[in-house]
Amino acid sequence: MRQALAEKEIDAIFISQPENRYYLSGFDGSAGFLLITPQSAILATDFRYIEQAKIQAHNYEIFQITNDIAGWFPELVTELSLRRLGFEAGHVTFALYRQLTETLNRAQSHLKLLPVNGLVESLRAIKEPEEIELITKAVELTDDAFEYIQGVIRIGMSEKEVSWEIEKFLREKGSQSMPFEIIVASSDNSALPHSKPSQHAIRAGEPIIIDIGARFEGYSSDLSRTICLGTPDDTFKKVYDVVLGAQLAALAMITEGMTGAQADSLARVVIEEAGYGEAFGHGLGHGIGLAPHEQPRLGQNSAELLTSGMVFTIEPGIYLTGWGGVRIEDIVVMESGKIRVITKTRKV
Ligand code: ZN
Repeated sequence: MRQALAEKEIDAIFISQPENRYYLSGFDGSAGFLLITPQSAILATDFRYIEQAKIQAHNYEIFQITNDIAGWFPELVTELSLRRLGFEAGHVTFALYRQLTETLNRAQSHLKLLPVNGLVESLRAIKEPEEIELITKAVELTDDAFEYIQGVIRIGMSEKEVSWEIEKFLREKGSQSMPFEIIVASSDNSALPHSKPSQHAIRAGEPIIIDIGARFEGYSSDLSRTICLGTPDDTFKKVYDVVLGAQLAALAMITEGMTGAQADSLARVVIEEAGYGEAFGHGLGHGIGLAPHEQPRLGQNSAELLTSGMVFTIEPGIYLTGWGGVRIEDIVVMESGKIRVITKTRKV
């Protein structure tokens, strides 16, 4: 990251985004900032977290702060004689930005604040082997949860009941938290890609999209499958085959060096040729790691290059208003030029 700062001619960076703070320092408290210069690394946090910070962020100098940013911010930055300080433009709120600039003006500081976008995020997109191991653990939790729920789900259960069964299982098996709200969407609810579990009682023959995630030592997983209890109708069989074909095509053909848009089109073409192009209204996938959605994006407008060490989802879907939807989602890692599927849950 220091290299990237030097290339941008920035003296230092002020990190406020929680996952970035954790990624760079190991500190997982809920409040604090990092200040990273070519020579020093400082973690600024308040009284509640000082002891935790000393233990978790042992490469960092710890600097105690209060609620009053005007009190501590000039002190933090002036001693370091910085001129150009980057801040995370995608995370710092307008209110915080204003506080920082007013504080600097009042202190008659010559420090310039410069917006920086996605710098730590692009480092996070390339996973270390240890990170891939933790994601694999999280994927195993969701694989196990899916197997479990298939034995429990019955006609007549509500989406909420199914969702709660999954959540209980995940928490009992060691998922730290839910990285996102579980989706159990049946019947025409499944035509909404991000439907919330409702009181709708599951009936025979309707599509049920189940989309779940686990979190293991900070790292997330994300798994979607579409099932049907009883006998599926012809639409289900047809749509399922198309989505599966699109997903398998992407899994087989994505290679290192493609853009997110090229990867997306491998699956999209299959869906378009089957006449459902309009019904695949989201991107093919997204990076996953400390955040359930992160770089790289795989979608029609993504110029991001897919490179070794990236971990992302492949999740084409078809959504038909009034009928329902089908989505199939796996997590993959880019390794030696090709992708390897981490998810184990069956698709057929
Ligand atoms: Zn996803």
